[in-house]
Amino acid sequence: MNDDSTIVAISTPAGRGAIAMIRASGKHAVTVASKIFLSKKSRKSIAEAQGFTLHFGDLIIDSEIIDEVLLTVFRAPHSYTGEDMVEITCHGSTYIQQCIVEALIGAGCRVAEPGEFTLRAFLNGRIDLSQAEAVADLIASTSKSAHRIAIQQMRGGFSKKIEQLRQRLVDFASLIELELDFSDEDVEFADRKQFLALLDEIGTELSWLIESFRLGNVLKHGIPVAIVGKPNVGKSTLLNALLNEERAIVSEIPGTTRDAIEDIITIQGVAFRFIDTAGLRQSQDSIENIGIQRTHEKMNQASIILYVFDINEITPIELSETIDELKETYSQPEKQIILIGNKIDQLIEMPQEFGKLIEHEIIFISAKRKENINLIIDSLISMVQSIDMGGDSLVSNVRHLQALIQAKQAIDAVQEGLEQHISTDLVSPDLRQALHYLGSITGQVTTDEILGNIFSKFCIGK
Ligand code: GDP
Repeated sequence: MNDDSTIVAISTPAGRGAIAMIRASGKHAVTVASKIFLSKKSRKSIAEAQGFTLHFGDLIIDSEIIDEVLLTVFRAPHSYTGEDMVEITCHGSTYIQQCIVEALIGAGCRVAEPGEFTLRAFLNGRIDLSQAEAVADLIASTSKSAHRIAIQQMRGGFSKKIEQLRQRLVDFASLIELELDFSDEDVEFADRKQFLALLDEIGTELSWLIESFRLGNVLKHGIPVAIVGKPNVGKSTLLNALLNEERAIVSEIPGTTRDAIEDIITIQGVAFRFIDTAGLRQSQDSIENIGIQRTHEKMNQASIILYVFDINEITPIELSETIDELKETYSQPEKQIILIGNKIDQLIEMPQEFGKLIEHEIIFISAKRKENINLIIDSLISMVQSIDMGGDSLVSNVRHLQALIQAKQAIDAVQEGLEQHISTDLVSPDLRQALHYLGSITGQVTTDEILGNIFSKFCIGK
């Protein structure tokens, strides 16, 4: 997958901006750039320039000055890719950008594939595979929580831990392999007690990481919130009020189902994904509607349910029953339910019995008049704050999750085998499997296909 060509790409977004950045990486990066650049001050070539130096000068192509630019020189191995690199910051005209890229190609570079700079960083041992994947997540992050997960992973996160455990497992695996060589003599080089203790430690760590995916995934993609309730209680009005309240970053992403549109609102750095429950709106009647399949699915995806009712249309007993029903139906996996009594503007007096009969806190609002919407926002935020990330890295990548699950299964099998004193040659394949899956997370074990898959999703220039 690696080659020794020098690659070039525009790293800033396509189109015109105030400035743009073009980078080249590879053995000849500096020499190639020196052919089109002349320093203002020294009028000397940068071909011999040292790493971490910044140069201001003219970009000259076919004896014509194209632009005045800044050029940064990096020398291997102290660069993003681990190779010699230059970064040229020019004015953002698409014409200038194109001229520079073409000139560099003319001087011997080739156009970089998507993610090829990061691929090189990985192949040159600058970062492991899960860190490389985190770079893509970091670029894509649009909320504080998604950003936090990505930056933790990019800085090594759980992959360091995985690698340490894998190394210790490798040590045991080699002793086990050695036992296989001496299988006639019935010797045990690997201390079974220590081995089991290590498997236990790895198993616990893997379980924790697998479990963390649930949270990692929702924080990365937005915490799914379903607004549910009978028709005409004001669900759509509430959603609109929420969207307005935050002057939100609202985006529409096509859902998995045919017609579902999801609104993402970023509130205080946390992305919430409001799940459309249009299915409920169209149906005719009452809480029985909660039974309909589509709504069920939606509510099952949600971490938080906003249950909206019309305060003028519901009796406290009815509400009590509804709450019990909601709790029974949606207690697994754990969901937070926020009760919202809407249309307080139509109410002459707050009925006393609500407070008495229902031990749950109800947020009373008027969606139409946008009253008390901030209370819902406060409640959403406090629910998220109660989630303890514990400063640890969370798993948020499906590829990692799958590898972790498979590694855990293999570890369990090894553990079981040892406990049942099954012969070493039968335990050893599971052990190899475990090492394989652990290694696939950080990239110790990988194939061109896996790499191609990961890096093709990157943008060009990264
Ligand atoms: P949905 O079917 O639950 O989505 O309900 P809608 O949001 O479509 O609202 C149904 C009707 O209730 C509309 O006529 C809204 O204008 C009205 N409505 C929504 N919220 C309020 C409110 O706080 N006060 C009053 N008086 N009417 C409301």
